[in-house]
Amino acid sequence: MRNEPAVEVTGLVKRYGTRTAVDGLDLSVARGGLTAVLGPNGAGKTTTVEVCEGYRRPDGGSVRVLGLDPVTDGARLRPRIGVMLQSGGVYPGARAEEMLRHTATLHANPVDPDLLIERLGLESCGRTAYRRLSGGQQQRLALAMAVVGRPELVFLDEPTAGLDPQARHATWDLVRELRADGVTVVLTTHFMDEAEQLADQVVIIDGGRAIARGTPDELCRGGAENTLRFSGRPGLDLVSLLNALPADTAAAELTPGNYRIEGKVDPQLLATVTSWCAQHGVLPDRLSVERRTLEDVFLELTGKELRA
Ligand code: ATP
Repeated sequence: MRNEPAVEVTGLVKRYGTRTAVDGLDLSVARGGLTAVLGPNGAGKTTTVEVCEGYRRPDGGSVRVLGLDPVTDGARLRPRIGVMLQSGGVYPGARAEEMLRHTATLHANPVDPDLLIERLGLESCGRTAYRRLSGGQQQRLALAMAVVGRPELVFLDEPTAGLDPQARHATWDLVRELRADGVTVVLTTHFMDEAEQLADQVVIIDGGRAIARGTPDELCRGGAENTLRFSGRPGLDLVSLLNALPADTAAAELTPGNYRIEGKVDPQLLATVTSWCAQHGVLPDRLSVERRTLEDVFLELTGKELRA
């Protein structure tokens, strides 16, 4: 049982009228890990998460969460999972602290609400009605409510959207602690640095399907088109340098004395460049290899045009 994935989605299909929001999606989330689900606007992330949470009924495929069917076993599943919705999902008139304390009472072994209030900097808004909280305060309260019941699995839909840098870091720290405590975390985000910092596994969704998956490192290394930069004296003979390098390598002097080499930057290429520099009496300064970022990978896979 402990080896079975926390979430297993196979061939999920979800339609809204004639629109297919999720189109045969496969997703497997290991227990105890943090999976970040990335994708352009309208890719189907929220719909997928909402099906896993039992809020939406799939039109096709199968979904198991902690070994249960979220629709038919919802009553057994709900006490074991924490959910942070994009829209908050709380009563607008209720006071922040009351809501958190009430949510805590619904669970057998909750986290102390005061601890969460302090951790998430919500001390000053305890008596404020939910609808009067700022957007960032509402987000932090929703996060507190998602984790107060010590869930085995927590779904966080864009947990740091609209947060200031301090609140963002407080959220990241809390998410890291959840993971260290063995909680499985599934989060959707548009922040590539968030996924790079937190995730064990990244799944990129587009058009309702998973189009790439792996650790952030695996995704950034895949297809490794990297960049090597160095500085030296201006006007180096780049034709001669390129003659020493593989055919699909490009070299440019961006500003006088600042060079960029693009291609399959591996140890051999680095050795060839430094050896060429040695032969030409050049001491390469500020030599650096730049890896692709997750954002580069994301844009390569999903394109740069805006989504409708
Ligand atoms: P975002 O990054 O913008 O939050 P997302 O990846 O979470 O997007 P979804 O919210 O799952 O995407 O939406 C997937 C598609 O389904 C979109 O085309 C959206 O317009 C459509 N959709 C979502 N919810 C509904 C709904 N309740 N009724 C009709 N269409 C919907």
